[in-house]
Parts: sequence; C-alpha cells; structure tokens
Amino acid sequence: MTNNNANRQHRYVIIGAGMAGILAAIKLREAGKHNIRVYEKADRIGGTWRENTYPGLTCDVPSHSYTYSFAPNPEWSRHLPPGAEVQAYFESVVAKYNLEDIISFNEEITQCEFSDDQWHIKTSRGNSDCADFVIAATGVLHHPRIPRIEGMETFKGDIFHSARWDHSVALDNKRIAVVGTGSTGVQIVTALADRAATLCHYQRTPQWIMPVVNGVFSEEEKALFRNDPVALKGIQNDPELEANIERFSVAITEPDSAAMHEIENIVTQNLEQSISDPELRERLRPQYRAACKRLIYSENFYVAAQKPNVDILIEGVDKIEENGIRSADGTLREFDVIVLATGFEADRFMRPMTITGENGVTLEQAWSERPSAYMSVSIPDFPNFFMLNGPSGPVGNFSLIEIAEHQWHYISQLMALVENGVCRKVSASQYALSEFDKARIAAAKKSIFGSGCQSWYLDAQGIPATWPWTRSQFKEAMKKPNFAAYCLG
Ligand code: NAP
Repeated sequence: MTNNNANRQHRYVIIGAGMAGILAAIKLREAGKHNIRVYEKADRIGGTWRENTYPGLTCDVPSHSYTYSFAPNPEWSRHLPPGAEVQAYFESVVAKYNLEDIISFNEEITQCEFSDDQWHIKTSRGNSDCADFVIAATGVLHHPRIPRIEGMETFKGDIFHSARWDHSVALDNKRIAVVGTGSTGVQIVTALADRAATLCHYQRTPQWIMPVVNGVFSEEEKALFRNDPVALKGIQNDPELEANIERFSVAITEPDSAAMHEIENIVTQNLEQSISDPELRERLRPQYRAACKRLIYSENFYVAAQKPNVDILIEGVDKIEENGIRSADGTLREFDVIVLATGFEADRFMRPMTITGENGVTLEQAWSERPSAYMSVSIPDFPNFFMLNGPSGPVGNFSLIEIAEHQWHYISQLMALVENGVCRKVSASQYALSEFDKARIAAAKKSIFGSGCQSWYLDAQGIPATWPWTRSQFKEAMKKPNFAAYCLG
C-alpha cells in the first residue's frame, strides 16, 4: 500500500524535554526532519534531573555510560556524577543542538486523539496542534508516591517528598527523619548524616548495598578526554564496564547463575565487614535476594548508618503528629524535618493525559490490566504513537540513555514506513502484543525481580513489569522491527 505522504514534511510532536525527548528531537533533526515541537510541562528541560535536587543526588550509572553516544562529555567530574552535573550536561546538549526554539515550556499536553490519520493535540494553555507522529518521552519516575499517613497534615515542622525538595528549609543541626530506603533514601541519609543533629532513617524494608568507589577524574584525565577523541570513546565504551553490565543483566534474568551468586557474595560480605555492631547488622540485613529490588550502589551508606547521631529504625511509621512520628510500638520521636523518600507511581507513564487511539479506544482501556506495549514502544490501536522508556523496557541499573537510543533506532524504522509512503499509519498488532506479553510475563516471573520482594518493578498483579531477557537480547531485538508484528494502514 502506498500513499502520497512521502514528499511532504511530517509533523512530529514529542512529549517531554527530559533525556529521551531531547534524544528524539536531536535524532529527528539529524534525519532532516524540521517540523518538530516538544511540549514540556515544566519551565526547564531535564526531567528526573530537573525534579530531583535532594542532597546527595548522584547518578548510580557510570557517568561516561550515562551519556548520549553522540555527545561525549570529557568534563564528568566523577565515576558516578552528581545530579546537578547531569542536569548541566543535558542543558549543554540542548544548547549545542539549538533545541530551545522547538520546546514549548510550561505547556502540558492534556489530550491526544487520533483521527483522519493524525494526532489531534490539546495543551494546558488551550492550544491545539496536529501531528503525524507522537513520541511519548514522559519518563517513568515522575509522579511522587506520597503515602497516606495518619496525621501528616498536622506536622508543625517541614515535610516534603524527595523529588519536591524544599531548599528554603534549614537542615544543619536539625532533627531529621527520612522515610524510605530506596536509592533515594540511602543517598539522602548518607549526605545528611554529617549535617543533622539527629537523623532517623525509617526503613520498612532493608536494602542490599553494593559497594562502589566513586573515583574522581583528575585534571590530567579530563584533559586527555578533551584532546583525544579515541580516549574519550574508549572510556565511553569501556569493555570492562560493558562486560560487567552484561554479566549483571545475565544475573537478573537467571537468578541461579554464577553471576547472581557473585553479586550475593559481594553484598553479603559488604554487610558483614562494614557493620561492626551485630544488632545493627541484623537490622540492616534484607530477607530477600540481592537485586530483587533495584540494587543500591553506595560508597558510604554503612559509614553513615553507624554514626552516633544516626538511628536505623525498622519500625513502621504509624502516625505523624504535630511534633514528630509515632511508631507502632507507641514511641514518639520528635523532628524538625520529615523527608518522604517513598518513591514514585511507576505505572503512570503518559497519564493523566487523555489519549484516544483508533476506534475510540482510550489508553485507560488499553491499559486496564497493566501498562503494556509491544517491544515496549508501540500500543495496538495507537498508530504512529511511539514510546521511549515505555512499559516493559529494560530496567535495573542500566543506562536508560543507551536503552532509549536503541529504541529510537527501532522506532525510526517504523516511522520510515509512513515517511516513505509505504503506509499512512503503523502500530503493533493486538496478536503480536498478546504473544509478546505472554512470553515476557513467563520470563519475568523467573527473573530475580520476581523472587519475592516488593518493588516498583512489580505491576499491580505482582508481576515484574520489566524486559525479562538480557541486555544483549534487547539490543538484538532493537536492531530491526519484525514488520509482520505491525498493522499497516
Ligand atoms: P523506591 O525505590 O520505590 O523506594 C521507596 C522506599 O520508600 C522504599 O524503601 C519503601 O519501602 C518506602 N516506603 C514507601 N511507602 C512507605 C511508607 N508508607 N512507610 C514507610 N516506608 C515507605 O524509591 P526511590 O528510592 O525514590 O527510588 C526509585 C528509583 O529511582 C530507583 O530504584 C532508581 O531507579 C531511581 N533512582 C536512581 C538514582 C540514580 O542514581 N540513578 C537515584 C535515586 C533514584 P518498602 O521497600 O518497604 O516498600
């Protein structure tokens, strides 16, 4: 089937100016497409790295891997970069590629509806747009999960979620509570241990901690990276790091593998050797397998946990009162500041946007059981609509930049069918998605994420919502779409 679309300039709308949206805009321009608009609900680019500004914020993926392949950065200061540096990196890329003029800031897409082979878009500013393609780059972890704790509104001190940090609140010599022990809670506790008068870490579930040395890149190394593109490419594609990532990916997909046992040994040794007080050690010992929750990399959380002003508490937060937190055993601890490092609603993706595909099918209907997308990028009945870092993509200590780049390579081949006039619309078939999901769910249940713990990797049915195969299998799958899995109209 052909159409007369081939020679006109298609219009591309990208939702979100975070890491993936920036990538999409650059790649489109590189391919000679210039009719692009990026809608960004906030007043700045950066996504996660704009929203998270908490003390201690650090990317736990090595800096040179958490970098676009086409925009290497000789200036990274450390092996694991501070959050502000990651934000600055994305801002520098946006400036370098002159993207500011195609981004509409403070403009949220509220509605997308497919009719007459186009997406009809409405925004929070009352504007309308019309696009041939929509690329949803809305990120995964951007709806803070605020627990409903009795009495929370009565607290007289300051209380806020980790992704809504209130920088006007003083922290030095204050009595601080941190609720939550994910990557975020661990980083905050580590950063505040030296500053707080007292710091209570409410850890409902302890975490396995992978030790890491967060080395600094010397001025000589940075100068080398600046002046020698081969050296810079070398560190970006460090074969040792590559091998480690691949090994990690095998470990999480095969919980009985030698690679997983090696991880278990390292984190167990870390706990045994780092924590001297046997009672505290047991409080910090998880009762589930390593990497079942996202594995936490930390250089000095265990140092922070042993400081005299730090208390690791295993009791739950029963109630919040005007002066502090009351535990289930009746103990009241008084605080000036309570930080909720309680994570995100990871199943929201593009929602609460109203998205209506062909035949009036809404996203809510399509996702009534769980968010799902064929190969993580395309939803049946939602033609010419593609996701980056959508549902069931690889998660687990990988560089999401790398994942998004592979997904872009795949998506661009589907868009080319429309761009080149082979068809007017393309979306995954229902059959392909059902078969994909069947295989994905069966494999996901066997992965380490399904080995018996609570985490944001699990969907509402308790099944890991992730890519369950290895990273190299993902890379292979993203090389070329199986076009037979798609409906062309
Ligand atoms: P998270 O991993 O979902 O952890 C949330 C924590 O809050 C858990 O410890 C959870 O306890 C606890 N919690 C939730 N509700 C609670 C309640 N009502 N009472 C007591 N505790 C409660 O969230 P996160 O730490 O923000 O991390 C989310 C993800 O963000 C990470 O896995 C990672 O992918 C990403 N992240 C990345 C970096 C990085 O360096 N790249 C840094 C930070 C975050 P339970 O375990 O008992 O449920």
